[in-house]
Amino acid sequence: MVHNFNAGPSILPPTVFAEASQAILNYNNTGLSILETGHRTATFQAVMDEARALLKELMQLDDDHEVLFLHGGASTQFMQVPMNLLDDKETAAYSDTGVWSSKAIKEAKLFGKAEVVCSGKENNYTAIPKDFAVPNDAKYFHITTNNTIYGSQWHKIPATSNVLIADMSSDILSRQMDFNAFGLIYAGAQKNIGAAGVNVVVVNKNILGKIKRAIPTIMDYRNHIKEGSMLNTPPVFAVYVCLLTLRWLKAQGGVAAIEKINDAKAALLYNEIDSNPLFRGTIAIEDRSKMNVCFVMHDTSLEDAFLSFAKQQGIVGIKGHRLSGGFRASLYNALPLSSVEVLVKAMQEFASLNK
Ligand code: PMP
Repeated sequence: MVHNFNAGPSILPPTVFAEASQAILNYNNTGLSILETGHRTATFQAVMDEARALLKELMQLDDDHEVLFLHGGASTQFMQVPMNLLDDKETAAYSDTGVWSSKAIKEAKLFGKAEVVCSGKENNYTAIPKDFAVPNDAKYFHITTNNTIYGSQWHKIPATSNVLIADMSSDILSRQMDFNAFGLIYAGAQKNIGAAGVNVVVVNKNILGKIKRAIPTIMDYRNHIKEGSMLNTPPVFAVYVCLLTLRWLKAQGGVAAIEKINDAKAALLYNEIDSNPLFRGTIAIEDRSKMNVCFVMHDTSLEDAFLSFAKQQGIVGIKGHRLSGGFRASLYNALPLSSVEVLVKAMQEFASLNK
């Protein structure tokens, strides 16, 4: 049995793989594969409608918030957000909590002023910045709710009167929060929502249409809203995999239920990291991510040996990102608690072999 701790693309529920495979062979007994089904057919329209409605339901979104499935990954949103919301002479506030925030900041500078109001750079992104102020006139304030590479997470969403924008690529749908408090949320699907190739954008339609810039048709959120996320050919199969994953999440009891399991998984692993003499965590305790758990060994010369030991137990995907080294275990929604138990057991056994 393989225990998949990959950071993304990452584990999805086994039922999703089974249903998605069947849909490739014969979608819902139509005699056609989902891959050869036109996006303008009633068959696919039903998929898109249900996926958007389910996401709205799971996030408890109000009628001002629209759900879109778009191309281009979360990286496209780094530029599409400022292109739609920030005029040349205006300022947007950004928090810099790691690699992905830095990339978002770089793109925003192409469209207006991007003011970095807080940064974790000085402490090598090992903590979420605490004391900072967002200028009142900033058009919006952008945060990355979970830092996939360094393993830190905003546990309390900062209170601000500015429009709040969030990159939730690596923790969307993992915990309850007031999603309606956000002007715009974006996330690549390939962690908690489905397959790579599509990203989800949740946008409060009232924040759109307030800038002077001419926006290319395909980049303008308003056109996607008008066309129900079907402005052009959507990534049909990736959207279908999202639908299956969202149905699975609903059947688990939704976000509240999965949050409890996610809390238990993270507590189990952090507890082992803190009590095992060979390992230590790399992130300030209060800011530790419950999705991407980063840790190292006191004696780094043992890291390769632990990786191969873990591999023998079927554990894959725990090698840390090259920027942070050590290990990163991603505990996304679909990862069962039993996989974390296997990892913890491997850490304990390795510790007794290396006393
Ligand atoms: N933001 C975050 C927080 C991410 O973790 C990632 C990718 N892992 C991205 C943005 C970029 O996503 P994509 O590769 O879909 O463009």
